Amino acid sequence: MKAGLAGLAGSLFLASAAVAAPTYIHAGRLIAVPGQTVRGPSTIIVDGGLIRAVQDGFLPAPAGARTVDLRSRTVLPGLIDSHVHLTSDRGGEANLLASVREEPAMHALEAQMNGMKTLRAGFTTVRNLGDDEGITLALREAIKRGWVQGPRIIDAASAISTTGGHMDGRGALNDELVAHLPDPENLCDSIEACRKVVRRQIDRGADVIKFATTGGVNSGTGLATRMFEDEARALVDTAHAYGRKVAVHAHGADGIKLALRAGADSIEHGTVMDAEVLRLFRQRGAYYVPTLSTVNGYLERLAKDPNAYTGAVKQQIDWRIGITGQSLQKAYPAGVKIAYGTDAGVSKHGRNADEFELLVKYGMPPAEALKAATVNAADLLGLAKEVGTVEPGKSADIIAVDGDPLTDVTVLKEVDFVMARGDLIKNEP
Ligand SMILES: [Zn+2]
Repeated sequence: MKAGLAGLAGSLFLASAAVAAPTYIHAGRLIAVPGQTVRGPSTIIVDGGLIRAVQDGFLPAPAGARTVDLRSRTVLPGLIDSHVHLTSDRGGEANLLASVREEPAMHALEAQMNGMKTLRAGFTTVRNLGDDEGITLALREAIKRGWVQGPRIIDAASAISTTGGHMDGRGALNDELVAHLPDPENLCDSIEACRKVVRRQIDRGADVIKFATTGGVNSGTGLATRMFEDEARALVDTAHAYGRKVAVHAHGADGIKLALRAGADSIEHGTVMDAEVLRLFRQRGAYYVPTLSTVNGYLERLAKDPNAYTGAVKQQIDWRIGITGQSLQKAYPAGVKIAYGTDAGVSKHGRNADEFELLVKYGMPPAEALKAATVNAADLLGLAKEVGTVEPGKSADIIAVDGDPLTDVTVLKEVDFVMARGDLIKNEP
């Protein structure tokens, strides 16, 4: 059990790292910096959770150091998913039922399990964009302390919307039940309220702020704009004043434009785009996070149970399935910056790599898709100094696959080696 020892926080971590032996990873091929030339046989020297050196050829490990033989593999940086919800991936009616019948303690254990599925799939960093109970904030801390294993988490705490918007969960409940609930802390309908709700999330520990300018598919709240521009500006300006980036859920073109004008750092889903949307993206330098994988989740659940979704939600799911990939087909050729994100939770945890296939299907070259899940996502998450490449000084977040992901991205679905912050998570022959 390495996690208990090597993951300890603060000075204890440094003390244990100092006595831990360095690791020499022999990589057959090395995509050290996605987007740049692939290296041949290389040695990655890992010590104290960090990459200390990357050298050409297979350097013999000195006495006391351990060797990891990946000479037949392609080695690359740990992958990053910029949009997940670790607490569940049940979806639809089943998710609603679980949210009212099961205790938060069960949701917490479920989140840890989903984090492990994600990590073992090669995703060593995730950005969690909303949960109601503070579970992912706690999981983030437990992972940092080495209590449990999991991916590095950038967390949004509760996602924000206006009353009756995508994040107002009361829409799915009857009035009698709603009357007994405390007022939600994640809704705002004025400049002052929007400033306050952001401050509240930051006080709870949010690394990033997430809000919705439009309704959403899974809440059945529609796809049109449901926020005024002054509210969106208050949210973004407050988050930025406190040094937090902003991720905005938006489906319709008007809601995307409103978010981009207000200063959003990324647009999540971005389902409908026109020329003005593309112009604003480029002018503002914001990232687009496509989350095409949601459609996989919908199709799987509907194949098992035609009543997995009902009413307005089902109608909006049908719309979303029909329109998948259309905005990526516009955004990629237009030079919009793209960061990898699945919305796992809607799709299944541990299957995060399925998004690669969809990105390529809708027009991205494999090398660009890989860059979206490493260098670009690291930039969006504000972690470019720590993750996203295999370079000296970076966190030892390293994965390996058989085959060449630059010609066939589906090899990324079978990650058989995972190292996270220097801890060996998985090494399958
Ligand atoms: Zn989401």
